[in-house]
Amino acid sequence: MKLVLATSNKGKVKEIKALYHEHEVIPYSELIEEFEIVEDGGSFKENALIKARAVFKALEDEDIIVIADDSGISVDILDGEPGIYSARYAGESATDKDNLQKVIEEIKKKNVTSSVAHYTAAIAIVTNKSEFSVHGWMYGKVITEIQGSGGFGYDPIFIPNGYDKTLGELENEIKQKLSHRSKALQLAQIILKSL
Ligand code: IMP
Repeated sequence: MKLVLATSNKGKVKEIKALYHEHEVIPYSELIEEFEIVEDGGSFKENALIKARAVFKALEDEDIIVIADDSGISVDILDGEPGIYSARYAGESATDKDNLQKVIEEIKKKNVTSSVAHYTAAIAIVTNKSEFSVHGWMYGKVITEIQGSGGFGYDPIFIPNGYDKTLGELENEIKQKLSHRSKALQLAQIILKSL
């Protein structure tokens, strides 16, 4: 089955390809020129659907299945921030590193060195006939010290429950087993098999 991903985020593409190795997984930017998608939904689910619909429409191919992920981290001490704004927490053109630094600074302002946090992933599937969405979560805590360089985004400050190392330090395979995206993608597999 040919699946087109409505993302060109290298970290996400790598994780999705690893999990869906039995499918042909193609980032949409390999088929058409990348374009800006305004993610103005109020939830991870809405933003995932916005991305998947936009790419489905732009590809003009009725036979494809488009998959989009919208994900982010919610930090308890920051009242759930950055949440759906995870990719642009430090500003519209912020890098992963800028966003990570901003989370660290905001936590430090609360005079603590860690906080309970969780990742959320919403996966949207859009075909010519139907639309679906599923979610996955990963729970743990964030710390105010960068540890490790694996993964991407906020991984070097996120310690999953049951571990004492960040996702930046843990093996990729461990993240694949635990991650919000893996959990959502496993649910999405059930839907894909039924299509
Ligand atoms: P999106 O591409 O609009 O869904 O934004 C996702 C944001 O959340 C980016 O800033 C990512 O760095 C962050 N994010 C999502 N999933 C992960 C993850 O598995 N690890 C680290 N950061 C993540």
